[in-house]
Order: sequence, then structure tokens, then C-alpha cells
Amino acid sequence: MNLPESDKQYFLNLKKGFEGEVMFDKLTEKLENESLIVNDLLLKSNNTTFQIDSIVIKETLYLFEVKNYEGDFYYQSDNFYPMNGNKIQNPLHQLNRSESLLSQLLLKHGYRIPIEAWVVFINPAFTLYQSPKDKPIIYPTQLDFFMKKLNASPSKLNGRHHKLAELLVSLHQHESPYKELPKYEDDQLKKGGTCKTCHSFSISVNGRRIICEECGCEEDLESAVMRSVKELKLLFPDKKITTNDVLDWCQVKVAKARISRILKKNLKASGYGQWSYYE
Ligand SMILES: [Zn+2]
Repeated sequence: MNLPESDKQYFLNLKKGFEGEVMFDKLTEKLENESLIVNDLLLKSNNTTFQIDSIVIKETLYLFEVKNYEGDFYYQSDNFYPMNGNKIQNPLHQLNRSESLLSQLLLKHGYRIPIEAWVVFINPAFTLYQSPKDKPIIYPTQLDFFMKKLNASPSKLNGRHHKLAELLVSLHQHESPYKELPKYEDDQLKKGGTCKTCHSFSISVNGRRIICEECGCEEDLESAVMRSVKELKLLFPDKKITTNDVLDWCQVKVAKARISRILKKNLKASGYGQWSYYE
């Protein structure tokens, strides 16, 4: 659907932040010495919910707040500003808050482990003018060296470290209070199957495969249909999905019986005959 400008901006920010986290996860994945990595946690401490981008557990617990800012920024009187814009939320304050909430949470569960907290600016095209030199910040040009140092830091892990990682995962809150979806109805949404690679709507069916007219990518009809079913379920979690719903959603020129067969094979059918739906 077409999003209002403010929602579009919000979406792009979320997407950019997510891409930054993925970039950072790729770096921590490469750590060779023993370490436990827990990413993307939503925790609750003292009735306050807070997000953590990445934790690396060695003999010290490393906490990372990852920012994917791009372009020129400057630092002034304890605040961050884009070169031509208004003050943004100070990531160092966010980091302090997460660190103190996390350490309280761990103490409550009987863990005393040293915590080292860092803000990571992951985007190679990020520059901070007047940058403070006494703050826990890792700049893009320092990432390489930092990861080497992190890799070499002491990492004799024992059962307690593993228990700690399990505890953090078990404390993860699944319902995010940040989840603010714009309202949408079925008839506001653009229908049609999309290419799994470039997300284009220009796809055609050729036998058992679908072909993207934009990028040439091919996919099994079955997997493409099931991808569409996943979208439907995500968008309308309470809806009972019928073959007609899927046909209408995919907009592919395929006989209804073929869609039916795919759904029967992959999902559990309930109801009967023309009233059957899939779970
Ligand atoms: Zn494509």
C-alpha cells in the first residue's frame, strides 16, 4: 500500500537500522575464539522495556548499540546533530540506559559479570565532526581493529556463561511495544505475487516455475505460492485462509485446483468442501 509520508520515513528508518544490525552481526559471526553471541533482544527491567542490538559474552559481557547513520554529523554539548538538521536522540544516552537496566536485570538473577558497552557506527559513510575522544564509540574506520581486539580478549567460558546466554534468550519479550503498524484493510493493499529476489510484481508462470520479468530470477511455483500464504498470514493473522484468498492474493494465472493441491500439501486443511480453509 502507499504509506503516508511519516510512516514511510519511519519504515525507512527501521529498515536502515535493521540493515546496520545485520552488518554488525556479520562481523561478530567471524569471531573465532570462544564467545556467545545474542542479538536483537527486547528485555524488561524495573518495568522498563529496552532493546539491545547485540551482546557478545566472553569473560566480559560486551554490549553493543549499533547505529547505521550515514553522512555528516557533528557533536556539540553532549548532543548529536546531522549537519543540516535537528538534534537526534543521543545514542550514548541510549547505551547508558541499556547498560544500567541490563546490569540490574543480571544482578536480580544472580549474575555479576563485568559489562563493557559501546556505540558502534557501522556505516562506512558516517563522519562525526568534533567527536569526543573519551566516549565509548567505535567509528567505521576502527571496526576492523576493534574486532581483532575483541577476538583476542580473554574467553574462558564455563557453564555459567552458557546459562547466562540462555537466560537472556529466555527473558526476551516477544510482543514489542514498539510495534506500531499503520491501519490497513484488504482492499487497500496491492495484490499479486512478487519476485523473491527483487520483489517486483512483474512475474509470469511458466509450467511449474515462475519467472521474474525484471531480474530473470526463477522460483518453484509451489514455493512462490507458499511465500504469498506467509504474507497473508502475517497481514491477517486471524483470517481463515481459503484457496480463493490465495488465488486473489497471488493474482497468478494458475488453475484453482493447482493452488488447492499446493495448500493441501503444505498446510493442514480444516472444514469441508467449499468451506475448507487452511492453517
Ligand atoms: Zn526479480
